[in-house]
Amino acid sequence: MSKLIIAIDGPVGSGKSTVARRVADLLGYVYLDSGAMYRGVAWKALRDHVPLDSEGSVAALAGATRIDLLSGDGGFRVLVDGVDVTKQIRSAAVAQAASKLAVIAGVRTVLVAEQRRAAGSGGVVMEGRDIGTVVLPDADLKIFLDASVEVRAERRRLEHAQKGEVLEFSEVLEEVRQRDRRDRERAVSPLVRAEDAVLVDNTAMSAEETARLIVLLAHEREGAEARQA
Ligand code: C5P
Repeated sequence: MSKLIIAIDGPVGSGKSTVARRVADLLGYVYLDSGAMYRGVAWKALRDHVPLDSEGSVAALAGATRIDLLSGDGGFRVLVDGVDVTKQIRSAAVAQAASKLAVIAGVRTVLVAEQRRAAGSGGVVMEGRDIGTVVLPDADLKIFLDASVEVRAERRRLEHAQKGEVLEFSEVLEEVRQRDRRDRERAVSPLVRAEDAVLVDNTAMSAEETARLIVLLAHEREGAEARQA
């Protein structure tokens, strides 16, 4: 049976990463985190003091950066120009910077091309904001994950707390709202649900339940494709 291309999009804190990783695991597929690419460029821009509002400089920086997403025994790792930045790119500062440079068309062009190459011919679960709409519009299964903003902010707060970054709930809620606004209102590839995406609201669902639901949908899609072949 041929392997599917699965696109999972959704706002910050919707559980995309955990869910997409688990779906890939359950299906034996490769997991690809497109946000890690934006974060990788953001990490380098902060390190090199490239002003995030200088569109030309940031786009040039993206074009001159090699980003490798590796899945293996050591888990999912992100290399920027060969340097392992898996942990560094998860800070709140890098997240904010990533969402700022994600509005720049030149940055998106470079990273979208990389993402399409990485998806290859199937057997992948790619997550992000514009995967079903822009990066992989012909994906076999598209999921739009969502949850209430309060639940998403609490998930982010817990994630930060687990890394020793203690933040007030109100502060995280504001950060999430700001990133939502930037993602949904930007002119280039805004976060929207693709018309043919299945909406999964997991406000009251665990990541495991969400992943298993998506795996069921994937099996259903595989069956439909096999019948058409
Ligand atoms: O998903 P994650 O929070 O790691 O992504 C970091 C930032 O990169 C997001 O806030 C979003 O602005 C941007 N992004 C994007 N398109 C994607 C993935 C991420 O604009 N496909």
